[in-house]
Amino acid sequence: MKRHLPALSWPRLEEGPIRVACHFCDALQDAPRLHEGDAAHCCRCGELLYQNRPRSLARATGFSSAALIFMALVHSFPSITIDAGSVRRELTILEAAAAMWRDGNPAISLASVFFTVIAPLVLVGGLLYVAAPLRFGIALPGAAAVTRWFQLCEPWSMLEVFLLGILVALLKLGAVGDIHLGAGLWALAGLVICTASAIAGIDRLELWDRLEIALNRQK
Ligand SMILES: [Zn+2]
Repeated sequence: MKRHLPALSWPRLEEGPIRVACHFCDALQDAPRLHEGDAAHCCRCGELLYQNRPRSLARATGFSSAALIFMALVHSFPSITIDAGSVRRELTILEAAAAMWRDGNPAISLASVFFTVIAPLVLVGGLLYVAAPLRFGIALPGAAAVTRWFQLCEPWSMLEVFLLGILVALLKLGAVGDIHLGAGLWALAGLVICTASAIAGIDRLELWDRLEIALNRQK
């Protein structure tokens, strides 16, 4: 395992050394503090134990803010416009869900709203609520509960599945009429990229450790 002088407050070493077990070979070993950009590897098998990602809180804050802006655009502009003879239809995600409800598919309508609107909103909104003030060492009220909730929502945010679904549907709908891609679809692509980058920007363990340090300081 690479060892560095304590420079940053992650992982915490406030009450003596902490130990970590390797997920691959179960070897129990010291968990040293890491400089930004460095990673700790297992002393026995060499697998990655954890890493201190560079500018993790800044990345999580920046990408989740951008994701929220893209989310507003997704719901403001139509994703696709269908021209079929005299009929012209512009659809946003919510209008598509409402159309499914009217067509007698309430379960699918509710599921699509949950997977593509509610879960992603809780995910990026929660990450921004926790990560932005943590950059200044502050934990806002309920930050631990918010972290638990947005991490629960993470597997249920299915924006990329929805985007792929739209692209496949576009191929099928080409036979029905003229299809025009709207600003909402490009915003959806931006939202998918920013949401994935926001989540990848910070390690789960790191977020919890930094949150715990801030909460202990505020006691
Ligand atoms: Zn190992």
